[in-house]
Amino acid sequence: MEKRVKYVVVTGGVLSGLGKGLFISSLGTLLKSRGFNIIPIKIDPYVNVDAGTMNPTEHGEVFVLDDGSEVDMDLGNYERFLDLTLTTKSNITTGKIFKQVIDKERRGDYLGKTVQPIPHVTDELQSWFKEVARESNADIVLIEIGGTVGDIENLIFLESVRELSLEEEVIFIHCALVPVMGGVGEQKTKPVQQSVHRLREIGITPNLIFCRSEEYLLDSIKEKIAKFCGVRKEFIISGPDVKNIYEIPLILDKQGVADKVMKMFGCESVEKNLYSWNEFVSTLNNPEKQVTIAITGKYTYLKDAYVSIIESLVHAGGKNACKINLRWVETTNLSEEEVFKLLEGVDGILVPGGFGARGVEGKIHCIKYAREKDIPFLGLCYGFQLAVIEYARNVCNIKDASSTEFKSDCLSPVIDIMENQKHTLAKGGTMRLGIYPAILKSDSRIRNIYGVDNISERHRHRYEVNNNYRAVLENNGLIFSGVSPDNNLMEFLELPNHRFFIATQAHPEFLSRPLKPHPLFLEFVKSCIGEEVVSEIMSNPPATDLELLNDF
Ligand code: GLN
Repeated sequence: MEKRVKYVVVTGGVLSGLGKGLFISSLGTLLKSRGFNIIPIKIDPYVNVDAGTMNPTEHGEVFVLDDGSEVDMDLGNYERFLDLTLTTKSNITTGKIFKQVIDKERRGDYLGKTVQPIPHVTDELQSWFKEVARESNADIVLIEIGGTVGDIENLIFLESVRELSLEEEVIFIHCALVPVMGGVGEQKTKPVQQSVHRLREIGITPNLIFCRSEEYLLDSIKEKIAKFCGVRKEFIISGPDVKNIYEIPLILDKQGVADKVMKMFGCESVEKNLYSWNEFVSTLNNPEKQVTIAITGKYTYLKDAYVSIIESLVHAGGKNACKINLRWVETTNLSEEEVFKLLEGVDGILVPGGFGARGVEGKIHCIKYAREKDIPFLGLCYGFQLAVIEYARNVCNIKDASSTEFKSDCLSPVIDIMENQKHTLAKGGTMRLGIYPAILKSDSRIRNIYGVDNISERHRHRYEVNNNYRAVLENNGLIFSGVSPDNNLMEFLELPNHRFFIATQAHPEFLSRPLKPHPLFLEFVKSCIGEEVVSEIMSNPPATDLELLNDF
């Protein structure tokens, strides 16, 4: 007998940024810990086909999946919490779904018919949900409808899930805000009432309401929400502020959310295994040491632009029982002197990815500071390219070394556009995207960190190290310790005789998980603490360290 897939649809009310994505990730964690196969889908109502063409300051970081799709940052949380490898199918946008319907129309699939949002787009959405469920062999599909109920742009998605609920087993969960007003600290329920009202106008009554508020909801407040929203009091759930996002599954579990959802689906409650999760949260909340790491960038006023990096550091910190304090260094228009001042006293410097000219020279100053002062340095993507430029300028003495990305007429383009990118005009989905293999140099530090010769990491870039400069860089001591299998693309670099100076063309931050921190971040943080175990060049890392690495 074919199994009956269950769907949980999460909507949002009152305002954006309530943490629907984290709610889904947390609920998914609880369901997974009870043995269910989970697959999440995020719906973004914008018209862009994917997140790749948006500045990270619009919707936060552009997350990249193995299959090369550029997706909403919520998918990063889904992958991290649920330890899954998702595909492009887990992110629907208005652009993507309409494009699919329009392509079908042009092919003649609907020949003779008037193609309309209802039923053609709504049907297409339902087929999409079912296909994702089938392909992933999921027991439960978690669907997050982006935006806020009442927005014109997500109406079609709400209609599609309303229709889905007529045929399939669907539970609706509504996330809303319960603000606390004034000196008396009263929890106000009207915004929740209003947004549930709007949802009911569309034909959807929530089965459970998740209320974000500073504190747990008072009993009387739950009663009030229950009465006005047509939901039983036991299904009004509190979402109080937390110290770190990994506490959310535990807070939901305390309120029996997963069991309540299972009960609504008519399932018995089953044993859960949250042991490792509990342990991780407890080490996170009780650190024994702390370090300060500078993140240097040009989107620093919106931390969401760097969310995967922040989380990777948190994972590595957790494993090392170390609190990570972040010092944000906005590198736009800063002189070398100013940069050096801002970096004083940091334990480590991380130069993340980025695009374009703004802030670039400031980042190069940061790299110089790390190299000269023997401060642990991790460069990611642009950070890798800028480390090459810094080395070329200040060690190899190629004074005008630069990248054609921000100096198109530069005479020493140590970083240049990739050959196969030269004639690419379209911007959407055309970078070198997704997972690519690299071969690590034996006896290199990076080889010891990963513990294996062949690795794969996710990528998102158009530029690369110009091989014409490889020899001069290497002759001056820079080690390209990881390369593409055809030896054509430089993937990792490191410096000997430095505490930790490593950079990669890839984005390892997309693969770190709370319970399986990425080895590169793990080792970087250890080095910042001053506890590096992997020595500079060591063919036989100690057993304890190997165990740690195999954990990845
Ligand atoms: N801007 C650089 C490139 O396109 C680096 C990209 C990045 O950091 N993701 O190659």
